[in-house]
Amino acid sequence: MIQPERLQALFLELVRIDSLSRREGRIAERLATEMRELGAEVEFDDAGAQVGGETGNLIAHVPGTVPGDPLLLCAHMDTVEPGMGVKPVVDGDVIRTDGTTVLGGDDKSGVAIVCECVRVCRERGLKHPPIEVVFTICEEVGLQGAKHLDLGRVRARHGLVFDSDAVGFVFTRAPGSNGIEVLVRGRAAHAGMAPERGINAIQVAAQAIAGMRIGRIDAETTANLGLIQGGRAVNIVADEVRIRGEARSHDPRKLDAQTTHMRECFERAAAAHPGAAVEVHVQRQYEPMSVSDDSRVMRLVRKAAAEIGRTIESAGMGGGCDANVLNRRGLEVVNLGTGMREIHTTSEWLKVSDMVAAAEVTLAVIRLAASA
Ligand SMILES: [Zn+2]
Repeated sequence: MIQPERLQALFLELVRIDSLSRREGRIAERLATEMRELGAEVEFDDAGAQVGGETGNLIAHVPGTVPGDPLLLCAHMDTVEPGMGVKPVVDGDVIRTDGTTVLGGDDKSGVAIVCECVRVCRERGLKHPPIEVVFTICEEVGLQGAKHLDLGRVRARHGLVFDSDAVGFVFTRAPGSNGIEVLVRGRAAHAGMAPERGINAIQVAAQAIAGMRIGRIDAETTANLGLIQGGRAVNIVADEVRIRGEARSHDPRKLDAQTTHMRECFERAAAAHPGAAVEVHVQRQYEPMSVSDDSRVMRLVRKAAAEIGRTIESAGMGGGCDANVLNRRGLEVVNLGTGMREIHTTSEWLKVSDMVAAAEVTLAVIRLAASA
């Protein structure tokens, strides 16, 4: 019942609409039109005003043809850079970028799948419960859309988020994350005339980092230092270094332990250089999520997949997405793979047949929810 050509055509149209984070106005308008055409009542919350964006989250209420608990279908509208002027290249079943931008399959594959499934429900007159479609803004900049989503406008308390790669998998576990910003202060001095008056912040930072555990910490925990900036000139003892990094873990205690370890490495290095100082700022980016295989939504997904002869495995992922926020805010959602590949790179691609497979599972979930 899913129409691959129509799904592909909508996907191609959507990736050609620029929609960097906070600039989702045009795609939101396009999707509002799509949803209204399908008989949905569309509204926007005020998340856009709160994050300085063009539009809020789009919330579309598709009336059910049978009574029942509403089902949430959620994907995000924004894309990462370089994401302006995407020119998708179709090569048989594969859609890729021309190499100058990302494709935006993250997450327009999810958006297109949701639209196609609602369209099939309406045109075929399928039995379905009320469907609440939420297309969020600003997922790529700290899950801001989901964090500011006006839940007073959303009745659904369980459903699917479409924002991960592997088709045939549903991600039920994801890590929490801390953002870490460090300022290492030394003391400037002329490097040739009076180096003994200086304290080299680069050396202090180097000592801290050299003794730090980063990368893969264990099966559940990772850490990274991603940015470093500092110094003023080759003849000045460096007085300041700024470092930005992160820690992630599925286990909140391990997340705290790793974050503390990173902080202590900086503090110890500063202590070893009298006069040096560090400021470490930690900000929780998002909380871990863990939805039980025995939850209502997982039972629904597994049974629906089985009914159409597919298997769906639950898995853990290494990144956070809107699902982390929604689960934390009292919903029960899992993240279904859409087929997006090599996301956040200019080599991004996907297979239309993978999107079709994800859409078929989704349609089966919707139909099963009608009888649940
Ligand atoms: Zn995404």
